[in-house]
Amino acid sequence: MDFALTAEQTLFQDTVRRFARQELAAGARSRAAADAYPWDVARRLAGMGLLGITLPAADGGAGGTLVDAVIAIQAVAEACPRSADVVQAGNFGAIRTFAEYATAAQKARYLPRLLAGEALIAVGMTEPEAGSAVTDLATRATPDGDGFLVEGSKVFGTHSGEAELFLVYVRFGPGVGGIGSVLIERDTPGFTIGPPSRFMNGERWSPLYFERCRIGADAVLLPAGGFKRQMAGFNVERLGNAARAVALGRHAFETAREHALTRRQFDRPLCEFQGIQWKFADMALKLDAAQLLLMRAAVNADRGLPSAYETALAKAACNLAGFEAANEALQVLGATGFSEESLVQYCLRRTRGWMIAGGSVEMMKNRIAEEIFERRFPQRPPRAPGAGA
Ligand SMILES: Cc1cc2nc3c(=O)[nH]c(=O)nc-3n(C[C@H](O)[C@H](O)[C@H](O)COP(=O)(O)OP(=O)(O)OC[C@H]3O[C@@H](n4cnc5c(N)ncnc54)[C@H](O)[C@@H]3O)c2cc1C
Repeated sequence: MDFALTAEQTLFQDTVRRFARQELAAGARSRAAADAYPWDVARRLAGMGLLGITLPAADGGAGGTLVDAVIAIQAVAEACPRSADVVQAGNFGAIRTFAEYATAAQKARYLPRLLAGEALIAVGMTEPEAGSAVTDLATRATPDGDGFLVEGSKVFGTHSGEAELFLVYVRFGPGVGGIGSVLIERDTPGFTIGPPSRFMNGERWSPLYFERCRIGADAVLLPAGGFKRQMAGFNVERLGNAARAVALGRHAFETAREHALTRRQFDRPLCEFQGIQWKFADMALKLDAAQLLLMRAAVNADRGLPSAYETALAKAACNLAGFEAANEALQVLGATGFSEESLVQYCLRRTRGWMIAGGSVEMMKNRIAEEIFERRFPQRPPRAPGAGA
């Protein structure tokens, strides 16, 4: 067993870190406060080959591993947390599931602009009545001539205000087996995007409405029966969420460490108080443990797709460690950390959101428990004897 990065991985990490520190760190605070997606960063990262890191060269990617993508997103996040969203969108998010299952024609139509940092693809999964219970989703795709009519609505989607393309989970038929997904372009008739709301982390989301929204058969990404495969792709998204959580926790940790070394109270630097030292020991303990679980999930990923169990462990650990580190770091910084100018409060708000997004910490623990007891624990109430399907 070897816990060190290879020489090649270390070189890659150094290169991305150097770029991020020199080119992105100075604008980190203004990007964190801005509403707009950092398109300038997206084009620059695309130029460096940092979008599509794990996609094959034939698809316009770099042919790298999931570990490479984790290295890149964390190196960027350490210097500029908001810019890491670009690495997420270009490697871990809907683009990854899309590239895994899309036809050659679908890839040719959408991948070039996505990989150039000129367009975004968003996930439309959550519905008003289907959050953690995602298989309750009601958005329907009904056959209509040689295509489908989509009817339903989605909520809370990241980049729903800016995306050109939406990967929408739909129901082709009843039950889990009836779930698949389709690709819907922003300007498709019958598809409207509602007014934006704002999460406490600063991100905006808009509701998506589909009313007799007609799509062609060529817009199907995964037909009925595709739910498991969809979630296999989504586990990559979860690791991107986990990688950023632990990196933002680390960013807050480093800021607080500097502060504890220099800020003096009672004629001593803060780091000389044991009450402060133990906070740092606890933060390091949680962040390092979470990072190891993250790397294990990424290293073991089969053809780039991590296992559900290792993903669940990594996501829960990173979400908790990232948030708890950011929270303690803010405490160490006192009112300075609580001020809007501080990036630490931004790290706190972002890491808090990831405890809910992409499968909450509780849902990850449910999955972990199933592995421990080697059985499924259906979350739904038992059916009354004799009740129909
Ligand atoms: C920052 C952010 C970004 C997001 N981005 C997207 C996106 O891009 N696309 C998209 O489709 N959606 C997105 N979402 C929505 C997200 O997927 C849902 O919020 C999430 O699945 C939880 O659903 P819910 O909010 O409806 O909570 P609910 O499912 O109503 O859950 C409420 C609470 O109950 C807990 N709970 C529910 N069921 C159980 C159970 N069986 N056992 C234990 N606890 C349980 C949950 O963990 C949670 O704490 C985003 C959310 C956030 C916060």
